[in-house]
Amino acid sequence: PVVTRFAPSPTGYLHIGGGRTALFNWLYARGRGGKFLLRIEDTDRARSTPEATEAILRGLRWLGLDWDGEPISQFARADRHVAVAQQMLASGAAYKCFSTQDEIEAFREAARAEGRSTLFRSPWRDADPATHPDAPYVIRMKAPRDGETVIEDKVQGTVKFRNDQLDDMICLRSDGTPTYMLAVVVDDHDMAVTHVIRGDDHLNNSARQAMVYRAMGWDEPVWAHIPLIHGPDGKKLSKRHGALGVEEYQAMGYPAAGMRNYLARLGWSHGDDEFFTTEQALDWFDLDGIGRAPARLDFKKLENICGQHIAVTEDAALLREIEAYLVAAGLPALTEPQRDGLLRAMPHLKDRAKTFPQLLEKGHFVLASRPIEPDAKSAKALDAVSRGILTELTPQLQNASWTRDGLEAVVAAVAEAHELGLGKIAGPLRAALAGRTVTPSVFDMMLVIGREETIARLTDAAG
Ligand code: GLU
Repeated sequence: PVVTRFAPSPTGYLHIGGGRTALFNWLYARGRGGKFLLRIEDTDRARSTPEATEAILRGLRWLGLDWDGEPISQFARADRHVAVAQQMLASGAAYKCFSTQDEIEAFREAARAEGRSTLFRSPWRDADPATHPDAPYVIRMKAPRDGETVIEDKVQGTVKFRNDQLDDMICLRSDGTPTYMLAVVVDDHDMAVTHVIRGDDHLNNSARQAMVYRAMGWDEPVWAHIPLIHGPDGKKLSKRHGALGVEEYQAMGYPAAGMRNYLARLGWSHGDDEFFTTEQALDWFDLDGIGRAPARLDFKKLENICGQHIAVTEDAALLREIEAYLVAAGLPALTEPQRDGLLRAMPHLKDRAKTFPQLLEKGHFVLASRPIEPDAKSAKALDAVSRGILTELTPQLQNASWTRDGLEAVVAAVAEAHELGLGKIAGPLRAALAGRTVTPSVFDMMLVIGREETIARLTDAAG
């Protein structure tokens, strides 16, 4: 059975790069009936905070990436990491190194002066334990010095590391705390992780981590190191490119399904498919489809994909997501009448909106209540002539059959009487009904708010 994991360091928020890594792991596991685990890599006590962990969990929850079991704290597993270091010491795969910082510095300086590699070579590697001093030590891996360490990576292919360029990495510091490099391997092994899918900034680590697997006689996981995300200009992603936190995208009003779709496409592809549902992604996702070149952020594409997801989401579900968005964005909650109005208007709102703010703007006519305050652009449509037409229209609407045909017939008749195009009447009507210029069709708005409210709004606007 497939077991994947997401292993964030809780030092900030859920970065979109992390969100994508989590998504790939989730898709891979969930699409194969496997498990997706969460491990909080909180060994850096100075930089790890519970708030950061919470922010990461919130980001994952919003993205809909549910994990199996409780999140695992790496720090809480320190005893186990120490035990493995001791085991490698006992088997001879690791050794105690008593070299001091000063000695290591001196070694490097001499190496530099002689033009040799500055990679530290400990004199304690093959020392007889009988000669060990009673002094602080670190535990180092006895790494092979000849040949190569080969990583078979599902994305990067066969990657070879020359062993003479790897040092004997430290597993246990002199204060007895395990290093990150050791902890990751022990945790992945104990959690029975079968596939390690992570950013390619960890590719070099995999060579050293592989040594621990080999020293312990453990099965290596399948490695898949995915290229990082770059900005639209192809440069390393940074703040100046735009929002980096997953939660920022939630607060900007992008739907989670759209975000999932978009993040899946960042570095992974399935033929020419740009828009797909999460079910399809679960079906299709595979490591073979991950490219080797860094993916570039493309906000236009994000918007287009999100717009398509909004359009196909069921009305009630959309309303729930919009309410969650309002909370995330720190905006006032909907009142009961606003919820009802939005739900009734939803079929006319979700077509072209790419974000929830756009959808809500178009839905202003059900969110606002009388008297409708037209915005500056809309107010221009309410000149004296237009108000006269609205005055004439009102009693006729009073008696119209309240169907699209009935309403169209009345408006068309008035337009004809004044020898005006329908658009000339729709403008003032739109202003009176919504106070906005971007709205659903005037007939759809009248049908949604009903006869009484329509008449009242037209009467208000006619003055
Ligand atoms: N904690 C590491 C990071 O946040 C991930 C390590 C891993 O996935 O192996 O970059």
